[in-house]
Formats: sequence, structure tokens, C-alpha cells
Amino acid sequence: LTNDQLDQWDRENFFHPSTHLAQHARGESPNRIITGASGSHIEDRDGTRLLDGFAGLYCVNVGYGRPEIAEAIAAQAKELAYYHSYAGHGTEASITLAKMVLDRAPDGMSKVYFGLGGSDANETNVKLIWYYNNILGRPEKKKIISRWRGYHGSGLMTGSLTGLELFHKKFDLPLAQVVHTEAPYYYRRPDAAMSEAQFTAHCVAELEALIEREGPDTIAAFIGEPVLGTGGIVPPPEGYWAAIQDVLNKHDILLVADEVVTGFGRTGSMFGSQHYGIKPDLITIAKGLTSAYAPLSGSIVGDKMWKVLEQGTDENGPIGHGWTYSAHPIGAAAGIANLELLDKLNLIDNAAKVGAHLNTKMAEALGDHVHVGEVRGEGMLCAVEFVKDRDSRTFFDADQKIGYQIAGELLKRGVIGRAMPQGDILGFAPPFCLTEAEAEEIAGKMAESVKAVFG
Ligand code: PLP
Repeated sequence: LTNDQLDQWDRENFFHPSTHLAQHARGESPNRIITGASGSHIEDRDGTRLLDGFAGLYCVNVGYGRPEIAEAIAAQAKELAYYHSYAGHGTEASITLAKMVLDRAPDGMSKVYFGLGGSDANETNVKLIWYYNNILGRPEKKKIISRWRGYHGSGLMTGSLTGLELFHKKFDLPLAQVVHTEAPYYYRRPDAAMSEAQFTAHCVAELEALIEREGPDTIAAFIGEPVLGTGGIVPPPEGYWAAIQDVLNKHDILLVADEVVTGFGRTGSMFGSQHYGIKPDLITIAKGLTSAYAPLSGSIVGDKMWKVLEQGTDENGPIGHGWTYSAHPIGAAAGIANLELLDKLNLIDNAAKVGAHLNTKMAEALGDHVHVGEVRGEGMLCAVEFVKDRDSRTFFDADQKIGYQIAGELLKRGVIGRAMPQGDILGFAPPFCLTEAEAEEIAGKMAESVKAVFG
């Protein structure tokens, strides 16, 4: 196909997700067709090579073009492309991967339920939570608390859990069973004089007030990402997770750690839960499980819930929840090869080391700039937040689209960073194979891009 033909077919036929549909149809947004990739770089059909500072959508953790994973997928497809996992059926790949996931998971986890993507895994979590409370004879304990700025998916329930307005407006969301609480976003604390510990106490007080208002007997669970991801790449303030868990335990509220981004090494630890001392009842996994070489997600179910779910089926029959593609063997084969590579190449250690270098270099390059409010990160996650005025932390006017302007300048210089959907924040979540020289290139090109925008 010629470039012109591809452009035409794209605009005529292809419904792009998360896209300004009208602008795209008018040809106002670029058509970027990716044709190949290796390591931390992707290449488009014009032969332009770009350093992918966001690993796709923070998912290609082991880097692009790994033959080990491609070969594992091909071998599985030849041997057995599909069989379902209902009613005790399974494949060697799905059973092996479940064991590998549990071997790496935090203590106290019992089983893995496999799905396709992060959104369906969180739908599964909510259904399991409701099933659990119904078996325990407390059907009124149903509401789920999530945080403003949390991201948990795009479905009806998971879009409700997501605490970003874009995912609610015009969709009649959030659903009634979802309530939101304060984001643990220290930079945007209500009073500049607050210490981190005071801000944590403030978040905890907000949570307690919400639970009191709603009634503890109506609250089933709390869901949160160990590090807020799409909401701005925001690591938690000091003491946050320990204090939140005390409140949840007091009211018998389950905890879901959504580790779709942080799972399998992004914080520099295998799981964000281990990094921050979180003891979840459920863990959501996706992206890094296969490094996106094939779609696969999972809900890791903790011992406390598993015992009840198992008992419940004695009274109620099989659990009425399953996807045709649950535990798809091709996804499982990709997952096994991916986790083996993470170990063999020590990629999580590299994520910790090079991620720290990226954060240091970014802070050196931009930390003192008059329009940089904060450079923050954890492991192989880094964000730069831009403000009109550093002292008052005032936002730029939304129509200036500062984040998008900077991302555009960065792209011109051959680096992909993500303008996060809310606020002028540039996010970075590169593959774990990033080198120190590539980290320096990202920071250097960010400095040039910021100069191009602000002068
Ligand atoms: N949870 C988190 C923390 C995510 O970042 C995402 C996606 O970015 C999801 C859930 C949803 O995953 P998916 O897009 O695979 O449905």
C-alpha cells in the first residue's frame, strides 16, 4: 500500500481509541503508522526512528523485538493455539504462568484469574468482591472507593473507578456504587505549608470522613495504584499506604492494588505492593505480564478471599464469570518467555538503576526552570509538571496546551514522551532495557523542547 492509500483507508475505516475523532477525520492530527521496533526505539513508515520514552503505553517493559518471546508465541500457536480454561480445563502454558506469577507475588496470594487487559481484570475484581460479600451474607457492603486521578480502565465499572473527568463525561458515569476520595498528590496539597506526613494525615482524614458519610457497612473495597499512573505519575507521600491500610482494616474493607503499570518491575521492585509495603486482597496485573507481546491480564486473589470464594461454589455452583479468552495459551506463552527474560537479563535491577539516572538527569536539566513545578518519579517512571508560576503552583490556561506543545517539540527531536491527560505533565515510562546514554538523551532533548516552547 502507498502512504496516501494507507492514510485514506485509515481515515475512512479505522476508529482510533482515545482520539479526537473529528480532528482526525479532517486530517488535522497526524497519522503515524509504526512499522518496526527494536530495544527502546520504534520506527515509522517514513523511516523515522524514535526513542520510545513511554514503552508504548507503559507496557513494552523488556523492550521491542525480543526473539525469545516471538518464538515462544509461534511455538505455542503451532502446538495448540487455543483451548478454553472453563470447568477445570487448562494448558501447560497457562498453568505454568499462574505458578510463575504467584512465585513472584507478595505473600498471602492464592490464585490467578487470567483475562485479556487491565480493564477486564478490574471488572473481574469488582465481581469477585461482590460475590465474596454476597457469600458472607452482607450484600449491602458493595461500594468501591477509588481516588480522584486514579486510572483503572475504560469499561462501565472501570471507567467509573477511574477518577478522571474525561472518562465520565457524556457516558453517565460514575455508576452509583463508586465513590471517590482525595488523590495522594503532595505537590497539589491544599496548603503549601503541609509536610508530607501532614498531607498523608489529611488524605487519611478525608478517607475516614467519606467512610463515615457513606456508612462503613456499605463499603466493600478500596482500589488504588501503588504509584498514580495516568493521573500524573505521582508516587505516594510518606507513610501513605500504611496509614490507609489501617483505616481499611478497621472497617473490614478489602484492598485492591491495581498494579497494571507497576507490576513486574516498573518501580524497581517486582511489585509496587512489595515496594511500598502494601498487603492487598487482590492485585490487578496486565501490561508488564507479557510486555504487551500478546494481550493478557490477571487478578491475583489473596488467601482471605479465596477461601470464601471456594466455599461459596459448594452452595451456589460454578462461579458465573468467565471470558472465552481467559488464560489464552498464546498470551500465557508470551508471559512465560517475558518473565524469564526479566530474570535472565536482570531487567528490574536495570529499571531501578537507569530509572534513578533518568530522574536525576531530568531534575538537573529542568528542576530550576521557572515553569517546572516538580520533577518526580520512582523506578523507571518519571514526570515533569509544568506551571505558570512556581510559587503559587498556578496552572497554565488549558487552551495553551503546554503539555502537548512540549511533547510535540520532543517528538520533533526524536523522543516520545506522553502529555498526560490531565494537567501539563510530561510522563516517561521507558522500557527497562534503557541505557544511561538514552536516559541522558531524553533529559537533554526535554531541556531543548522546553526552551523551544518558553524561549
Ligand atoms: N489500570 C491501570 C493502572 C492502567 O494504567 C490501565 C491502563 O493504562 C488499566 C488499568 C486498563 O488497562 P487496559 O487498557 O489494558 O484495559
